[in-house]
This record gives sequence, structure tokens and C-alpha cells, in this order.
Amino acid sequence: MPSRAKLHYDNLPHPKVVVVGGGFAGLELVQGLSGQPYKVLLLDRQNHHCFQPLLYQVATASLSADSIAHPFRRTVGPMSNVAFRMANVTAVDADKKLVYTDHGAFEYDILILATGSRTNFFGMRDLEATAMQLKNISQALDIRSDFLQDFEAALYLHDEAEKRSYLNFVIVGAGPTGVELAGALAEIKRTVLKREYREMESEWMRIVLIDGNDRVLQHFSEESSADAYRYLRELGVEVMLNTRVTGCDDDRLMLGDGTTIDTHTVIWAAGVIGAAVPGLEGAMNERSGRYNCDEHGRVGGLDGIYAVGDVASYAGDPEWPKGHPQVATVAIQQAQHLVAHLKARANGGREKPFRYRNKGSMATIGRRRAVVDLGKRQFGGTFAWLLWMFVHVMQLVSFRNRFMVLMNWAWKYMSWRNTIRLIIRPYVRRSNTDTAGA
Ligand SMILES: Cc1cc2nc3c(=O)[nH]c(=O)nc-3n(C[C@H](O)[C@H](O)[C@H](O)COP(=O)(O)OP(=O)(O)OC[C@H]3O[C@@H](n4cnc5c(N)ncnc54)[C@H](O)[C@@H]3O)c2cc1C
Repeated sequence: MPSRAKLHYDNLPHPKVVVVGGGFAGLELVQGLSGQPYKVLLLDRQNHHCFQPLLYQVATASLSADSIAHPFRRTVGPMSNVAFRMANVTAVDADKKLVYTDHGAFEYDILILATGSRTNFFGMRDLEATAMQLKNISQALDIRSDFLQDFEAALYLHDEAEKRSYLNFVIVGAGPTGVELAGALAEIKRTVLKREYREMESEWMRIVLIDGNDRVLQHFSEESSADAYRYLRELGVEVMLNTRVTGCDDDRLMLGDGTTIDTHTVIWAAGVIGAAVPGLEGAMNERSGRYNCDEHGRVGGLDGIYAVGDVASYAGDPEWPKGHPQVATVAIQQAQHLVAHLKARANGGREKPFRYRNKGSMATIGRRRAVVDLGKRQFGGTFAWLLWMFVHVMQLVSFRNRFMVLMNWAWKYMSWRNTIRLIIRPYVRRSNTDTAGA
């Protein structure tokens, strides 16, 4: 049964478009469809958009959570043909044209799936149960609380080896998220731990970055990988390449060569899988969790169902025969393309296939250290770091967020301090509660 909940635009005569997910792709879509002859309903399990590229800065207490998040109602409120409902979408019925949620079902004429991706543990259940993840604000706050709790807990221990195990932070996956997180933790070791935890030796803290490949930032140029590796080593990060993780328990990480690392904190940043919604299994790739789409984003030949962003794998782009990378620029460009496609559909215009314009890649590894790949050009150091900051600030959703981020960065740059080191909501380990509330 479809939901009877009233939507403010019910009387409009337009087709119903349901957009599931308000990430980079979903938000771009609703902004593009605002004022168009469609009744748009945005569904998301969160009440806010999250700027994921800066999550690691929330996790390492450089930015407050509200500086990288923006409430959907603030965006959608002024739009006369767009509504928002906070709901977890649980299934799709393509025959009945219904989307099922934890608050009932919604009818659609056009369905757009923009549910992004989730962490991929490659079937390793012990890691899934124990390791920390970084996909949303709640998880970023968990990481922040966890490392601060570990610092405080270590002070109460007498045995040096035990203290050290609380100060061993292992990050698995040396892509941009792992590299950026490792760099930020290394700066905390060099500043906060050294200055403010005077009863502890800062050398006791280890930051280990593990990857199965033979270089960090595998998808960047070789020059950028080499620069990033050098920056990490300069900051004291232990980088273990060609290393496979096989499992973990509450206080150890197991490696492929049979050795172990004593640690209470493993952060898993080693891969993602599409966050597909049940109901369209025939139109998705089981291994990647992404919907198989044509060059306009139409899912598996189904009428009126599209997918965009991380959860979609588009065919037909000669430069990307295996699908586009799961990054924000792809999500935004696919959403812009779909808006143009839907406008053409409403007004009888011509449809152009989607082609991704790759604008380059960048990652930062601590203060004044970053790498940038722009086409065939590669550069690192202070200029790359400034460019990284400029690009990320400009991509934030609101002026307030941009202002807050800039102010925080300026303060941190001048004072060398991460000031937001508050344990507001203590992290309770799922399988080990011994440090809860420390
Ligand atoms: C830590 C981190 C750092 C990153 N850094 C970069 C970077 O520097 N540069 C870059 O280009 N990319 C980066 N990325 C990747 C980038 O963030 C993603 O490619 C991008 O967010 C994909 O956009 P999307 O709209 O497809 O999905 P998302 O932005 O993930 O949005 C998905 C939305 O769907 C909602 N949702 C999911 N399932 C459901 C459901 N069943 N019901 C209701 N709502 C649902 C979620 O709540 C979320 O709001 C990073 C990602 C992470 C996690």
C-alpha cells in the first residue's frame, strides 16, 4: 500500500520522481530538477548531506561535524516542487512502481537510485565486527572518540607494552582516505600527544598503514604515489605494502605472512561496494554491488528507473569500459547529465550519452604536503596543499560551511592545535567494551 502521507505539492499535475539518497549525486539532482515539471521526493536515511572527502578531518578533530554537513530541509525548503522525507529505503518493486521504506511505500513514475556505496570487508566477518569504518559522520565521531579514549585509557596502564598497544593505530587501505587519515593522525602524535600528554612518550604511538598493492595511492600517477610515500615516512607513518590482512580480534590484527600487530584500533579503508537496494537483483552486478546502466543511467532496461553515482556502473563510455571510478566528480556529472536527460524527456529534446570529464585527483598528507594529478601534470608540496584546500572549500554546500572550515583551518595552521578534541559521545566497542566511557 502506498503511503497516504501528504506532500505539499500533491495537487501539481506533474510526474512523480523519487530520488533515493541525498549524497553528491542526489543533491545535484534535486537542485537541477527544482522548478522543472516534476514532483520530486528526496528520501534519505539521514537528515543531512555529508561532504565525505572531509570526514577524516572530523575523525581527527580538525573540523566539527556540522561544518561538513548540511540539513536537507534547508536545501529543499524553498523548492516548491521538491519534498524531503527521512526514511530508510528497504526495497523496490519495479512492477508496482513502489519504493518501500521503514515508513511505508511511495509511488513513483521515475525512480532515481543514488544510494552511494558501503564499506567492503570482502567477506571477512571478524573485521566487519571489529574494525572501524569512515563513511558517515557517526563513524567519524566514533573514530575521534576512540583515539581520544585510547589516549586517556593508556595513562592508567602500568605496563609499557600494554600502553603501546592502546597507541597502535592501524589503517588498512592506502587509497586517499587511508593516506589522509594516517597523515592527520601522525600530526596529532607530533603535536597533541607530545605537548599535552606529558606522562607518555610520543614515540609509543604507532601509525601503521597497510595495503596489498605495491604502492600507496594506487590510482594516482607513480610520481604522486612516490611523493605521498615520502611524506608519510617523513611524518613517521609505518607503511606496509604488498601486505595482506587476513583477520583480527579485539587486540590483534592478523597478516598474510602469519605475523600479528597488537592494536585496539583498526580502521578499514580498503574498499567499497555499491549500496544497492533489494528488489532489482537482475539488473545489478553482484560482485561490485552496482547497477548495470546504459549510457543515460537507465537501470538494466527497466522503464523509468535510473541510477547515478557510486551505485551505478554506466556502459558506453569508451574511456571507462569497466565503469567510472567511485568519486564525487563522477556522481555530480552523472546527476547533471540525468537532469538534462529528464528535461529533454519533458520537453522532447535530444539525448546525449554520458561522457565523464576527468578533472584530476588530489590527496593531502598533513600540513603543506599534498599531491595533485592534473591530466599529464603532477605536482606536490605547498602549492598542491593550497590547491587541495581551495578545491575542497569551494565544493562545500553552503557559505556557512565554507566559512567554518576556513576559520578552523586558519586557526589550526596558526596555533598547531586540533581544538575539537571532545569526547561527546563515548565510543563503545562492539566486541570489547573495556574502554567504553574512559
Ligand atoms: C572518507 C571518504 C573520502 C572521500 N574522498 C573523496 C575525495 O577526496 N574526492 C572524491 O572525488 N571522492 C571522494 N570520496 C568518494 C565520494 O565521497 C563518493 O564517490 C561520493 O560520495 C558518491 O556520491 P553518491 O551520491 O553516489 O553517494 P553518497 O554521497 O555516498 O550518498 C549516498 C546517500 O544515500 C543515502 N542512502 C544510502 N542507502 C540508503 C537507503 N537504503 N535508504 C535511504 N537512504 C540511503 C545515504 O544516507 C547518503 O546520504 C570519498 C569517500 C569517503 C567515504
